Amino acid sequence: MFKFAFCFFSAFSMASPALLMRVVASAYSVAEKAATIVRNVMSAGDLGIVEKAGPNDLQTKADRLVQMSICASLARKFPKVTIIGEEELPTDDVTEDLIENGHCEEILKKPCPAQYTGIKEEELVIWVDPLDGTKEYTEGLLDHVTVLIGIAYGGKAIAGVINQPYYNYEAGANAVLGRTIWGVLGMGAFGFQLTEVPAGKHIVVTTRSHSSALVNECIAALNPDHVIRVGGAGNKIIQLIEGKASAYVFASPGCKKWDTCAPEAILHAVGGKITDIRGNSFQYNKEVKHMNSAGVLATLRNYDYYASRIPNIVKESLVP
Ligand code: AMP
Ligand code: MG
Ligand code: MG
Repeated sequence: MFKFAFCFFSAFSMASPALLMRVVASAYSVAEKAATIVRNVMSAGDLGIVEKAGPNDLQTKADRLVQMSICASLARKFPKVTIIGEEELPTDDVTEDLIENGHCEEILKKPCPAQYTGIKEEELVIWVDPLDGTKEYTEGLLDHVTVLIGIAYGGKAIAGVINQPYYNYEAGANAVLGRTIWGVLGMGAFGFQLTEVPAGKHIVVTTRSHSSALVNECIAALNPDHVIRVGGAGNKIIQLIEGKASAYVFASPGCKKWDTCAPEAILHAVGGKITDIRGNSFQYNKEVKHMNSAGVLATLRNYDYYASRIPNIVKESLVP
């Protein structure tokens, strides 16, 4: 009887981890390989820059190689998952050196939140921004760059991985370069120290390379103590969760679903909130329009303080 109970227990505890945790664990390793590619392309010195819509919408060899690496690696392991990447690339065979097979054991050991244990592959959508902050990457502002892998279920961002390939790059030769932040709704987010901006301080973080009159008018209306202008949606969410900024405000179209999916999952996992400028939440089902036409408003705390101060004229100028 005792023996039976023991066997039953060990069989139960060895049950394979839930799909969501396997996807996140793989995305973690895939994002680390992506970071190596981002650094290697930069150190090789030939960025292979291509203009997409114009001079403020760039693609480099790193964007291309990383997208191939992430999408092919995840598709090989999870063939029924829908994967949507930013870059439009020819469907050439991906070379084997771009494939990452590994996964993060630590993540696999964590229990999946109960509401996600029954998810099937065909119900997941993965949004991939292979290199967020490309403009800044080409200008040598390396710590603005992130690799974003967002995981959506039922139209909602539920898990995400953000790799920052050049985290610590100004901290000297002995500092460990790069880090991976990840999170799951209902579980929390890891790989950084959650910090809040001191109470009563209003610091807005916004675009550095995609400003407009409306972007600036919206920020001015919030009357912040300080404005930080940095590249990348992933980088701006990191500013929020590490207590550098209290609100990410972008009153403009331009940001896409692959920019916000991973950041949203991580921000929501630690109790923050992200919407468009009008207060609508983002949807991440595979049929959704890619552009976040009505901009971005995100905070770790005090969302209502900022939302209530966005002028109506700004809201009316941005149509979802
Ligand atoms: P930013 O805050 O300017 O770094 O933008 C965050 C993300 O949105 C980046 O992936 C940008 O490429 C994208 N984005 C924002 N505005 C535009 C735009 N006007 N054209 C193209 N991409 C944009
Ligand atoms: Mg981006
Ligand atoms: Mg990108």
